[in-house]
Amino acid sequence: MSILEHSQRLKLLLPFKNEVAVALVIMFLTAAAQLLIPKLVNFYVDGHAPSSLLDPFHFFVIVSIIIFSIFSALRFYLFECLGLKVVTDFRLRLHDALLFKNTSYYDSNNVAELASRINSDTQILQDILTTSAALAIRSAVVFFGCILMMFTLSTIMSVVLLICIPIFIVATNLLSKKIESLSEAEQLALAKTNKVAFDNLNCHMLIKLYNWFTSNQKRYQKINLQYVTCAKKTLHAITFFQGFFNFLIFSSLIVMLMLGTHLIQQNALSVGELTSYALYLGMAFTSLNSLSGFWADWSHCLGATNYLFDLLNNNDNSEVRGDPQKVSFGDIKLDNVSFYYPSNPERKVFENLSLTIRRGEKTVLTGPSGNGKSTLAKLLLGYYLPTDGTITIDGHSLNKENIASYRSIIAYVEQEPMLFSSTIIENLLPDVTIPLAGEQMQKVVEACKKANAHEFIQQLPNGYDTEISDRGNQLSGGQKQRIAIARALLQEPELVILDEFTSALDKENQQHIEQAMDHLLAGKTVLTISHKESQIDNADRLVLL
Ligand code: ADP
Ligand code: MG
Repeated sequence: MSILEHSQRLKLLLPFKNEVAVALVIMFLTAAAQLLIPKLVNFYVDGHAPSSLLDPFHFFVIVSIIIFSIFSALRFYLFECLGLKVVTDFRLRLHDALLFKNTSYYDSNNVAELASRINSDTQILQDILTTSAALAIRSAVVFFGCILMMFTLSTIMSVVLLICIPIFIVATNLLSKKIESLSEAEQLALAKTNKVAFDNLNCHMLIKLYNWFTSNQKRYQKINLQYVTCAKKTLHAITFFQGFFNFLIFSSLIVMLMLGTHLIQQNALSVGELTSYALYLGMAFTSLNSLSGFWADWSHCLGATNYLFDLLNNNDNSEVRGDPQKVSFGDIKLDNVSFYYPSNPERKVFENLSLTIRRGEKTVLTGPSGNGKSTLAKLLLGYYLPTDGTITIDGHSLNKENIASYRSIIAYVEQEPMLFSSTIIENLLPDVTIPLAGEQMQKVVEACKKANAHEFIQQLPNGYDTEISDRGNQLSGGQKQRIAIARALLQEPELVILDEFTSALDKENQQHIEQAMDHLLAGKTVLTISHKESQIDNADRLVLL
């Protein structure tokens, strides 16, 4: 556990320092009030309190209790709110960092696992940084307050008890180290369960088709078992510690009672003082217990959130941020481009590939499946950078810094269109506030008409406002492609990349859209990836990969 690990997590509170300060002040007040309770008991047991219920002293006590209760509730509320804010803020930062990760990052990381981490790993932080931390600070205050009070009551007994403390600290330290390492494995196992669940639910139709229920249930069961094994190891460590702690509490209580009764016989202590001493001792131990519980949780949190902080702090595999700039468009040249996917360096997809896509022409890229046609599109879009060689647009070399600007003039209709699980209109124009102004809506309808999508969209239950669940599952492949085409048209691009864009369309729709596209994209630079003769015949230039 390095100081950095602790400070990284505590820094999450920094944007909310005012709220933290208010919550802490209230917490100190409630802790101080709690420390006065045994003193009050001492007062009553030794017979110093007024005998009449209507005495102003009792009135004062009742008012104090009411204030104490209000403050306690307020403290709870403030810390819970703080937790929500801190974790939401952190989650947003994680989400943002993940969106900016390179495409290759997603080749080697599972999306369902990452989603699990954004949720369950951050949840741990929420609990620990707020309510648990608040209780721990209060416990620390109460603990030291109790020790102080105990010394004022009886020095001898307190010195004897203090011997227990070093034993306790050493044990806590050992335990927390163990827990931190166990927790990292535990969170990984938890994320993996999410991955399998996501996988199974996503493929539910396949599972039904081949009756793979049992095997897939077993797969999920197995991964859960791994998680339970990991979680149990942490639990064992904590349980052992709890047992040891209880032993420590009860044995010291017995020692204290023996010593206390001896002191009473010697007239060195009153019964009220011993009672109040026992209450302080109980409170001190409860506080110490919650402190050690907090430390165990904190260690758990350190281990469990290591992954998240690595993810946030490592920008090497992220896209460059910044708004797109205006760029000039012209011929696209690939010069001796070699490329392999970072996740599979063994297989070179291209070796010294050179070709030119001329401005204003329709270039058709064709060739056997698996030859790298889609990969070429991804290189032009800067999802991956060439391993060797250069790609230039109008003489400017594509690189990490300028790729976002070039993307803004490219539209891409991919083989399997990606759709958000939101309304049709949000899929067409995600960055525009809904509802659209009349003029904008007209544009959308026009684009959809051109893409032959308007008709089927209108037949959906809520037209353009129909929610398409689970990334368009209830739409046909052809319908999804037509939405993607309309979306591309709305971007008013310079370069249009169409990757087998009619693969899921029937002949009639295909012809209709091809004709419409020819008309629409006349004069634009178009790169079509296709096997279809009709498209090949129409090409200005044909490239065989
Ligand atoms: P095409 O579109 O011509 O059918 P692709 O460009 O999709 O072919 O794929 C070219 C090669 O790159 C294939 O061997 C494929 O397995 C591999 N490939 C595609 N995507 C990835 C990826 N994300 N990571 C690793 N290899 C990939
Ligand atoms: Mg392809």
